Order: sequence, then structure tokens, then C-alpha cells
Amino acid sequence: MILTPEEKNIILDSIRNIPDFPKPGIIFKDITTLLSNPTAFNTLMNHLEKRYKSYNLDFIAGIDARGFIFGAALADRLGIGFVPVRKKGKLPYTTVAEKYSLEYGFDEVEIHIDAFGENGCCRGECTPSKVLLIDDLIATGGTAKAATNLIDKVGADCVEVCFIMELAFLNGKEGINAPVYSVLEID
Ligand code: AMP
Repeated sequence: MILTPEEKNIILDSIRNIPDFPKPGIIFKDITTLLSNPTAFNTLMNHLEKRYKSYNLDFIAGIDARGFIFGAALADRLGIGFVPVRKKGKLPYTTVAEKYSLEYGFDEVEIHIDAFGENGCCRGECTPSKVLLIDDLIATGGTAKAATNLIDKVGADCVEVCFIMELAFLNGKEGINAPVYSVLEID
């Protein structure tokens, strides 16, 4: 279940750093080079499958847009459903929304009201569906916090939040109301 240092390096080395994107001072962690590297992508997905196969999850929820890629691949491996947490205005059915602040202004994420079953329950009676939330990276944690609030609002249970990378120096996970697991911690 624990990644060996070699496996960690395979994944880390496959991620490309793009300085000053999308604005000066930001080092953008580009996961397209991880996805196009079959050894790195397979190493990562094997690790996530091993970690989460014993969690008895009902759904994986992925954050728009890179969380969709890892989340959908993992949901298929675990034989469970995938739910997209989307930016405002993209989902066609009745939604629940949550605003969060950015450095300048606000953004908003949405989820379908019945994404995890009626009242968030897919297990009959009303036992909340067990959900793993996933995204590629946590910086300030604002996006993931809003997404966990959405899972709460529709009545499901966010059992863990998983990131491929955590910018540890920003302490973003402190504001998140669920256990957090990061595959790679970046100082
Ligand atoms: P935050 O809400 O501050 O935790 O930001 C997380 C979201 O922004 C995630 O969906 C990331 O994909 C994206 N993001 C933030 N910083 C970076 C970065 N340095 N490189 C790549 N993606 C980033």
C-alpha cells in the first residue's frame, strides 16, 4: 500500500514544472506528462487501487477538470460510480452550489442534487453513500473545501480527500473537514 521511493520518483519525475504559468510567480505542475507516460500513470493507478479497494466506497467524486481523469480511472478500477464536481453552469440537471474565494474574487462549484442517490444515500434506508473526493493538486485548499461541503450538502459522506500532489507549505489541508491523503508532498 505504501509507495516505494522508486515508485514515488517515477511519478514525481513524470510531472513537468512550468514556471510563471498562468501568471508570474506560479510554478504550474503539469500532469499531462504523467498521463502520457504509461509507466508513471500505471504506477500511480496501481497504488490508488491498492489503497482504496478496502475502503468499501460507493463513489469517487472528481474535481473539474484534472480530478475527472484520475477519478474516473480509479472508479472503473474499483467497479464503482464516478461523479463530477463541476464549475458553475456546466451541469444540466438540478444542482447544489458552493462558492469559494480566490485570490481576487470568487468561484463556484456544483454537483447534481441526486449524484450520490436520493438524499445522498445509495444503500437503501438512509445510510449516506461513502465518497472519495479526488483532485490532482491541493494549493490553498479552497476548491477541495467547497467540494467537500457540496458532498455534505447532498447528504453523502466524504470519507477521504485524495490529491496526487500537495503544496505542503501552503497548509491547505488544514481547512478541510475530512481526512486528507496526498501521494506526493511538495515542499
Ligand atoms: P486551491 O483551491 O488553491 O487548493 O487550488 C487547487 C486547484 O487549482 C486544483 O484544481 C489544481 O488543479 C489547481 N492548481 C493550483 N495551483 C496549481 C499549480 N501550482 N499547478 C497546477 N495546478 C494548480
